[in-house]
Amino acid sequence: MTFKDLNISEPILKALSKKKYETPTPIQEKAIPVAFSDRDLVGIAQTGTGKTAAFAIPIIQQLAQSTSNDRKREIKALILTPTRELAIQIDECFTDYAEYVDLRHTVVFGGVNQRPQVEKLKRGTDVLIATPGRLLDLISQQYITLAHVEHFVLDEADRMLDMGFIHDIKRLLPMLPSQKQTLFFSATMPVTIAKLSKSILHNPVTVEVAPVSSVVDTIKQNLYMVEKSEKSELLVTLLKKEPSKSVLVFSRTKHGADKIAKILCKKGIGCDAIHGNKSQGARQRALTNFKSGKTRVIIATDIASRGIDIANLEVVINYDLPDVAETYVHRIGRTGRAGNQGTALTFCSREEHLMIKDIQKLTGKKLNVVSLPA
Ligand code: AMP
Repeated sequence: MTFKDLNISEPILKALSKKKYETPTPIQEKAIPVAFSDRDLVGIAQTGTGKTAAFAIPIIQQLAQSTSNDRKREIKALILTPTRELAIQIDECFTDYAEYVDLRHTVVFGGVNQRPQVEKLKRGTDVLIATPGRLLDLISQQYITLAHVEHFVLDEADRMLDMGFIHDIKRLLPMLPSQKQTLFFSATMPVTIAKLSKSILHNPVTVEVAPVSSVVDTIKQNLYMVEKSEKSELLVTLLKKEPSKSVLVFSRTKHGADKIAKILCKKGIGCDAIHGNKSQGARQRALTNFKSGKTRVIIATDIASRGIDIANLEVVINYDLPDVAETYVHRIGRTGRAGNQGTALTFCSREEHLMIKDIQKLTGKKLNVVSLPA
């Protein structure tokens, strides 16, 4: 199957080929025809599967066709996403895929001054990507109306609920026109999410790819049995052994992330920490530097990392094990993306053994125990 088979228009095909996308991913193959058919959709897919393009491409194509007759820059597509990082990432995807069509898109999220966002909104936008809190704020100040929305995407619905956004979503829903297409994405489908989807979708088509327990075969998973007190030394040794690779290190706590960053700095290893206590600006700067290769090591907590898409990330290190096995899958899924090879190294202390059992049960794969470097 090719993108042409999915009836993607020439200007978008040109943008995709510039991105070196050769064939659609499974979620794109399944979801794009549904999106074009105007039906509602439930997409069960996690980040890394290409789901952003699965909703962005049909939206861009449909709006590009309709806006060519109608130059009013009203918000015709709303994409609601839980974190600022995801919002920025989705906005970047729109920049890429809509390069050769006449379409305006804008992103709004909290934690930063609203003025530049308001200035951009005043110039008019066809697509709005938003996090719930800032969106509600801007609506209440009358900078935004959702009355003209034709396509509504609820991204990472499970994450939205985990982060306590359910009330915000319930406030937003009645502000949308009843006649619209809704594309609902979630990595998992627990009862609460299924109920929410039922309450907002009309006769949806459900498509599902790679459930959360699946770890792609392109990720090599190694396990180091190591005492807690020896973890920092092991990290430094491993980082020094592979001085050219970009590495994402996960810490369970913010304090732990800062501590690891300090130790690495002392050893002359350039790094940044990202977590919930860092300002949005600092987090963004750290990510930009990491993506451009300026810093090669980033230490993150789970809240700051989920959904972050870093092309060519080679190594993920679990300095601590997460509290739930699913998080392990999300963490290591930052590497080995879109068919690239990746390595996930996990440091497991005596206290953490039980979690390894949970992870192996969930993924159905045994982690490869490797001996500590001499
Ligand atoms: P997402 O699940 O939307 O976060 O996308 C995961 C990664 O896959 C991103 O780096 C995309 O640029 C990339 N990607 C999406 N669709 C394709 C495709 N058809 N071919 C190659 N890479 C893709």
